[in-house]
Amino acid sequence: MKKSLLWLLLQGWVISEASGQCSIRFLAERASVQEFVEKQEGVYVPVSRITIDYLGMPVGLPFKYASVAPAWSVENSPSFAGRNTSLKKIDGLKLRNEAYLGLKRLKNSAALSGIKLEVSSAFRNGAFQASLYRKLGSNIAERTGYSEHQLGTTVDFTAVHAGSKTFLWLLENAFRQGWIPSYYFRENTAIKKEPWHWRFVGPEAAEEFYCIWQNEISQEVLQIKERFAQ
Ligand SMILES: [Zn+2]
Repeated sequence: MKKSLLWLLLQGWVISEASGQCSIRFLAERASVQEFVEKQEGVYVPVSRITIDYLGMPVGLPFKYASVAPAWSVENSPSFAGRNTSLKKIDGLKLRNEAYLGLKRLKNSAALSGIKLEVSSAFRNGAFQASLYRKLGSNIAERTGYSEHQLGTTVDFTAVHAGSKTFLWLLENAFRQGWIPSYYFRENTAIKKEPWHWRFVGPEAAEEFYCIWQNEISQEVLQIKERFAQ
């Protein structure tokens, strides 16, 4: 999708106004993603709230990762070429190689703080996502093709709830390891907030996500700490 230089400069101005100190990468990609989502889903998300992960996949919007958007489908992503595409097994569940390695690191560092991270869901294929959607409904499950679980980079942790010590640990430690709570800090979604749902986006994108949502994240951290201080 070609954009005029003036249009991109204007978007850039809007972004720097909205995000303050955050370094914003992939400006043209974000603008294309914004336009695509608005056209396909009728949902407007400010460019300043869009993060692009290490695969070139957007975060934080209703986005059909599978089939409808071949330009952005995982296998067609420019940053995907030459990567190890095989899914690896961890705790009996499957993840893309980078997320698999990232989860191992995250579990190890959590264990050092006395926190046991257990995963209840990781990669899902289309058929499984479809059955979840039928069973749980649109407030809880995404439509087929739209779930981040279909990317193979996303996990659900067991026993992670809003206000829990494990959620606090994740908020304070997981970003720098490349993990983000992509269904907790998010705009324009019908899905309820999910503190247990974490997506591996790579350290650079996670830092950017942290920067975009830092007010909300600090607020959340403060609230949990106050709760445990009582
Ligand atoms: Zn999930």
